[in-house]
This record gives sequence, C-alpha cells and structure tokens, in this order.
Amino acid sequence: MVQAVVGANWGDEGKGKITDMLAEKADIIVRFQGGANAGHTIVNNYGKFALHTLPSGVFYGHTTSIIGNGVALNIPVLFNEVKSIVDRGVPMPKILVSNRAQIVMSYHILFDQCEEERLGGKSFGSTKSGIAPFYSDKYAKIGFQVSELFDEERLKEKVLRICEQKNVILEHLYHKPPMNPEDLLEELHGYREMVEPFVCDTSAYLWNAIKEGKNILLEGQLGSLKDPDHGIYPMVTSSSTLAAFGAIGAGIPPYEIKKIVTVVKAYSSAVGAGAFVSELFGEEADELRRRGGDGGEFGATTGRPRRVGWFDCVATKYGCRLQGTTEVAFTVLDVLGYLEELPVCVGYEIDGQVTTDFPTTAQLEKAKPVFESLPGWKEDIRGIRKYEKLPENCRKYIEFVEEKIGFPITMVSNGPGREDIIYR
Ligand code: GDP
Repeated sequence: MVQAVVGANWGDEGKGKITDMLAEKADIIVRFQGGANAGHTIVNNYGKFALHTLPSGVFYGHTTSIIGNGVALNIPVLFNEVKSIVDRGVPMPKILVSNRAQIVMSYHILFDQCEEERLGGKSFGSTKSGIAPFYSDKYAKIGFQVSELFDEERLKEKVLRICEQKNVILEHLYHKPPMNPEDLLEELHGYREMVEPFVCDTSAYLWNAIKEGKNILLEGQLGSLKDPDHGIYPMVTSSSTLAAFGAIGAGIPPYEIKKIVTVVKAYSSAVGAGAFVSELFGEEADELRRRGGDGGEFGATTGRPRRVGWFDCVATKYGCRLQGTTEVAFTVLDVLGYLEELPVCVGYEIDGQVTTDFPTTAQLEKAKPVFESLPGWKEDIRGIRKYEKLPENCRKYIEFVEEKIGFPITMVSNGPGREDIIYR
C-alpha cells in the first residue's frame, strides 16, 4: 500500500514528525520532489534532527530510504546528512538513490546566489540551494542524471557544452569569472565515487515492492501553496509539492497512492515573501513565533524567523483539495493553549466581495481576512492521548476547522515527539 504525507499550506506543517511516526509501520520511505532547500525537524529517541534530503524514516532500522527521480539531488549534502545522523548513534540507514535523479551542481548554487544578488529587493527569497537553476536546467534538458556519471564520454562532451552556455551568462549578466570544464568534470567524478554504491533503478524496485504488498510512504516537501502550478506563483518552489506528483517523482502508478495524509498546522506560518492573508504582526506575532513549533518558528534550513498568522480555512480547504486529501493530520495544536480567544480566517474579502475560494495571486494580494473568533482553552494539552480528554473548547476548535475545510481530521498532534498523537 502506498500512502503520501504532504502539506496543505506553505510548508513547515510538521510533515517530518508525521512521517517519522507513520514510518514505524512502513517498509520504504520515498522523497519524490524538492531538494536541500527545505527542512524537516524530527524529535525522537536519538535527539532532535533537521533533515533536508534524507526521508524522515531514516531513524528506523527496518526501513529503506529512497531518493526518487523527482528530487534535486545534492550529493555532498546527502552524504553529510548521513554522516551527521550516524555520528549521533543512528544505525547506518539503507539508502537507494534513483539512477534517474538529477544532480544539483555547484554552479546551480552559484547561479542562485548571483540571481538573488542581481534581483536585490525584488528577489524571491530563495534559500540559495540552487533549486530553481537546477529545475530550470532539468526542463531545459541540460541537467546531469545520476546514470550519466557512469558514461565518461558523455560527461566530457556535456561539460564542454554546459560551460559554453553558462559562461556567457556568468560573464555578461553576473560579471563573474567563467567556469572551467576540467573543474566540472572533477566535481562529477567526486559525485560518482560518493553515490555509486547506492544507485538503483528505484522505479523498478518500488514496482516489485508494491507487488509484494510492502508499505510505502511518499514524503512531500513544503505544501500546496508552494506548488508551481497551483500555489502562489511566482512565490512558489520549482517542483510540484502535490501528492499526485509522488507518482512521477517516485516512478510508480498513480492509482497505487491509496491514502493521502495532508498535514495541516493549527495556525499559519510561512517563510519568504508573498501574500499571506491571515498574517499577524507586532507583539502578537512575536509571541506566537516564540511559542510556535518546537522551540520557535524559525526556518530549519536558514534559521530565518517565519511569518505567522491565524488559521486560514480558505487556504487550507484549497490546499487539502489539491492534495486529494483522504485524511488530515492536525498539528502543533498544543502551542495555542495560551490564547484567550482564537481568531480563524473563514473568508477573504476581495473588492468588497467575500469568498471562501482561494484565488490566483493578483487577487490574493488584494484579499483581506474575514475572521471568526473561537474561545481559547487556556490549558496545556501535551500528554493527552484520547480525543475526549481534550478540553471542550479545544475540540470545538478542531471540529470548527474540520467543518470549514471539508476533510476529516483523523490525527491531532499535541507535541513534537512520536508519541504525541491523538487518533480520532
Ligand atoms: P515540516 O517541514 O512540515 O516537516 O515541518 P518542520 O519540521 O519545518 O516544522 C515543524 C516544527 O514543529 C518542528 O520543529 C517539529 O518538531 C514541530 N512539531 C511538529 N508537530 C508538533 C506538535 O504537534 N506540537 C509542537 N509543539 N511541535 C510540533
């Protein structure tokens, strides 16, 4: 059985925690999109970890971790991450890297930095991990596929071609020194050495695993609102964040994805620029940011303070719909226990009209939030394991959200640990 764990919003919903938890019963965990730009934070018996490339199931001895073909594979980052967990006592994970995954090159990172510099104040707030230049090259058909590392003639010819093209931009647009083909070839040889033992036809591997009835988890990065087609374009990422893309980014039949667990956070947070209708500012924002997540709402990759806001039913209903949600995991609810009352964004007012449908970006930028307030529960709910044991106002908040978004909340997460979960 294949199930996907994906985000409904801007990312940072707690997918890492939910994946780590569900991975206990999984055989294989697959990353199918994105790269080292976003991070998942996981707290378990080994400690607290920020993962960027490894799937969140790496902490169990019984799972196989797959880096699917859809991922932007940064080979040194992957192996540093493996080392960093092994150094902290986690058993060496079993890792397979798709022979069709493409490689993030040092020049992708360089171009990402140069472009952010060039754009100045108009930048997209990139994490400068090379993700946008990487996917641009992939679709422009000038990327390096892992399989190509093992064809020396091809590599030699390709590095010349790439340098010719990239150097024009480097010199004339960014005023930087040109790259040299020998250095690139050397970089690729280094990657070949590191990755060789792990390379696999992962699509065929997964096909067989499905036939054998194995439990497979697809782990998404970021959330629906960062999808390049359905998100807040252009403040999006460069690969699809939707569960449907799991079929492509892992190389499995779409009809095999039977369950789609969409992770929804009990309040909103976002990193980087872009419209954020229910955003909070000032003191109120500082307090939520400080109390949020597990030790504050700061980016797992960059440490940037996250923007925070009240729960947004309009964005979440849309985000859940695009994911094809079969169930919702509602996370980080424990953080809200300090509030007297909880405003919830139930509609957007655009040019005097109120809508509950999530609009395209230009309209979204004009939207003003319509709030409804619910009473707080003023209680620490960590440690509670049964739904009925939650304070009444807390249950009312969950049920209100469920009704507004129109998808069933089957799990409520009330702490960062694996066991901090309430099944409904
Ligand atoms: P992801 O990218 O979706 O995996 O999300 P992040 O890992 O970036 O952010 C989620 C943060 O919230 C992490 O610090 C988690 O440890 C933490 N977290 C996850 N679930 C809960 C929860 O139910 N309660 C609290 N307090 N923290 C949580």
